[in-house]
Formats: sequence, structure tokens, C-alpha cells
Amino acid sequence: MAVPLFDTRTPLVPLRESLHAKAAEVLDGGRYILGPEVSAFEQELAHYLAIPTVLGVANGTDALVLALRAMGVGPGDDVVVPSFTFYASAEAVAVIGANPVFCDVDPRTFCVTPETVRAALTPRTRAVMAVHLFGNVAPVAELEALGVPVLEDAAQALGSRAAGGRMAGTLGTAATFSFFPSKNLGAFGDGGAVATRDDALAEAIAMLRFHGSRDKVSFELVGHNSRLDELQAALLRLELPHLDAWCDGRRAAAAHYAEAGLGELAALPEPADGCDPAWHLYVIRHERSDALSEALAAAGIGSKAYYRVPLHRQAAMKPWSDVELPGTDEAARTHLAIPVSPVLTSEQAAEVVAAVRAADLG
Ligand SMILES: *Cc1c(COP(=O)(O)O)cnc(C)c1O
Repeated sequence: MAVPLFDTRTPLVPLRESLHAKAAEVLDGGRYILGPEVSAFEQELAHYLAIPTVLGVANGTDALVLALRAMGVGPGDDVVVPSFTFYASAEAVAVIGANPVFCDVDPRTFCVTPETVRAALTPRTRAVMAVHLFGNVAPVAELEALGVPVLEDAAQALGSRAAGGRMAGTLGTAATFSFFPSKNLGAFGDGGAVATRDDALAEAIAMLRFHGSRDKVSFELVGHNSRLDELQAALLRLELPHLDAWCDGRRAAAAHYAEAGLGELAALPEPADGCDPAWHLYVIRHERSDALSEALAAAGIGSKAYYRVPLHRQAAMKPWSDVELPGTDEAARTHLAIPVSPVLTSEQAAEVVAAVRAADLG
């Protein structure tokens, strides 16, 4: 039986009726931008995270741009960002005229460490972007101890917990989320959010998402038009009560892989710093990851190398490419995402592990 790389459809099947009814209600209701559904979703997500403020924005990339700007990052500033992440992490830095200073990751966790960030600090460093990659949780407290504000890119880590139980996305000065359909909490289109406990920062983001205005008639900043749609917020509200169960399903999938003996055949991702990841992607490392991917495809099993070319080697990042990042190169070369979802069964995991074993790639 084929095993897909991810399954966003099955978990939503039990919600189908209520999602359709809610969509009809919003369409008939006449409020589409920054209405009661967005406010309610913001409050409910803030309650889930146990943080004072969440603000909905258009997508996870805008969330990073607005958070960086609200933190005072601007042209000429340096922002430390890992090279092994989705492109948007560094793009958000460059698009506001700041310099992404690429730092390394620990290939065992795929996250930055205090050592890799320290090595990238400059006199002009205004912020560090801690990307909680694949749902793992970067060590934010240790990064803050370096004396620089930390912005968490938690696009892949909604539902993950840091050591001590605090939610990923509540650990730094601000954090950003994405509700891209395949993320842990997926909208039916684009969506994103910023979370913070800093009231001044929240006020700045609320202005920036609406053209730099507080009252919609006077304009204090050159801002953005970046809102979470009322329709998306309404549907996300119906999903949010299921998020923890879905995350537990992802954790169970990881446990199934370990129990089926995958660790004998490939390097399994290691939770960083005692955290409890809600594995957004389950990414193993293998010396022959492309050959493994081909063998899995032949067995009907989905897999994908998301970041084979790390960001400091991407054409648009040429001005910031003069760095040596051995951990990044190793992760880029060896990583391979294998199927994970809230509903991946132990039978499916066993099938994937059997296919990895049968590939016999050493
Ligand atoms: C998905 C993602 C983003 C961007 O989110 P969008 O909603 O697609 O704009 C940013 N950073 C990381 C690590 C992501 O995975």
C-alpha cells in the first residue's frame, strides 16, 4: 500500500460538515476583513499558547517581516538566521533591507545552537531568528543569554513544547506562525500570525498590518496590507480544538518509526534540548538519501529533500554567501523527509521501515 508524504485530508474528514456550515455562515455574514472571527481566533490561539497577544496576518512570511520591523530591524542591520530552513526565513530579513547573516545548524537537531549563533554575531546584529525547524525547538533561552533579541520562526512548530512545557512560539521577543495548508494547523489558503508578550510590539504589528494606521484614517508608518481573512480565521477556530490530538498523532508516528527499528537504518531526528516536538516533518539523515528516496518512490512511499540547496547557496542570497557552514552542508546533503501525519499508523510506519531496509543502502 502506498504511503503519502503527508495527509492533510484525513484529519479534516470528521470536521467536514461543520467547516462547510461555517464557511456558508461567514459568506452570508458580510464581514470579511478583521471582524469577530479573527478577534476570536486570535484570543483562542493566545489562550492555547498561554501568551497575551496573537495577531493574525496574511501568511507566515509577512508575519516574519512585520515582526522584524516591529522589533526595530531595518536597512543595514544584521539578523542571524540559519541557512538550513525554508527560504522565507532569510527572505523576510533581506526584503526589509537588513542583512541575513547565515549561521550553522546542528545536523542532529536541524536547529541553531548557542555556539553557531555566537559565531555569527556582529556589532550590527539586531536580532536572531530561531527557526524551530521540522517542529524541533531551538534553544531560545540560551540564545537570549547572548544578549540579542530572539524572533522565533515557529511556522513548523505550532504545538511543539520546549523543555519545561512552554509552547514553542512563546519563548522569545516575538514568534511567527504559518497556517499554510500543510502546516500543523492548516487554513484553506494562506494565513499567518505573530505572537508576543510585548504590548508595544503588538501595537506596532497591529498598525503595520493595516497600512501603518491605528484608526484607518491617519497613517503614522509606511506599513503593509497583511491580514488574516475572516473566512480563514473562522475555519481555523474549528480546527484549533483538535490541534493537540493531531500533534499527538505526529508524535505517535515518530514513536512508530523508532519502534519499527528505523534508527538501525538511518539517523533519526533528535529532539533539541529536552523539548517535545510535534513533528511537522519527520526528517531522517542517510548518506545515500537520494538513492533512498528513489527506492521509497519505487515502493510507493513518499519522501522529499526539502532543502537540498541551503539558503547561503541560493542565487538571491549571493551577497551573504561568503560563509562556511559544515553542519548545514551535512544536513542539506543527507536529510530526507519521510511520511508523517496526525493519522500515520504503526502499520504504515512498519511498511516505510521495511522499504528502507529492503533498499539495502547500508
Ligand atoms: C512555511 C514557512 C514559512 C512561511 O510561511 P508562509 O505562510 O508560507 O508564508 C516561514 N518559515 C518556515 C520555516 C516555514 O516552514
